[in-house]
Amino acid sequence: MLQIFGLNKSFRIDGRSLPILDIPAWQVEKGEKVAITGPSGSGKSTLLHLISGIAVPDKGEIHLEGQPLHTMTEAQRDRLRSLHIGYVLQDFHLIPSLTASQNIEIAMGASMPAKRRKTLISEWLERVGLADRAKHMPSQLSRGQQQRVAIVRALVNNPPLLLADEPTGSLDWETADEISRLLLDLSSSGQQTLIVVTHDLNMAERFPKCLDIRELNRVRKHTEHQAGRGGAQEVSNG
Ligand code: ADP
Ligand code: MG
Repeated sequence: MLQIFGLNKSFRIDGRSLPILDIPAWQVEKGEKVAITGPSGSGKSTLLHLISGIAVPDKGEIHLEGQPLHTMTEAQRDRLRSLHIGYVLQDFHLIPSLTASQNIEIAMGASMPAKRRKTLISEWLERVGLADRAKHMPSQLSRGQQQRVAIVRALVNNPPLLLADEPTGSLDWETADEISRLLLDLSSSGQQTLIVVTHDLNMAERFPKCLDIRELNRVRKHTEHQAGRGGAQEVSNG
């Protein structure tokens, strides 16, 4: 489903180039559910931006469903993303002036007949326990309910890949746990590949596969050297 080779990404900050990601190789099989953990600033969001084609790497290859994302134009990447990827974010990003149902509908292709769209939305809201909330505005929903709407919006076109960036980051513990289970359940029944990045270890533990981004990424933050063994080894080797 996803293959990454020699991926490098730096950002220019104050005229200096700051390396963020250096991932020699990584792949995710179709249907896998992977949680990637790591501290704030370790490049988790940047990795998802690259996988989704929102950002481009400085070097390296990203193959999504056999297609070379790294060679595509922005327009081609946008198209690939709209067809293949659903994205769930920490802060839901629902449109405040639209109802739950309308927030889902805007993600759906205009080619689908309106009646079919309505039926599909009702079915989805039912599945996530929001059947009676279709006409509610986001402000009338709890944070957990808003995230459910955002998850439906990401899944309604049945994309093969679901990406989630800190999807439980602004939720209380209990709601976070519900949302984690919902993501796993829905992506299993839809056979989606699911990649979640989170610093929530409770969430990560629910996943069949869980890895720290630092296992993939060769860029090490100086704080790790100060705190960990890296610094001591450098001294004794020097
Ligand atoms: P995480 O999601 O793990 O918290 P990010 O991927 O958001 O980490 O960021 C990794 C590092 O890259 C951080 O130091 C952040 O400040 C920096 N960074 C992210 N995006 C940009 C950008 N557009 N310009 C400059 N620096 C950025
Ligand atoms: Mg982030």
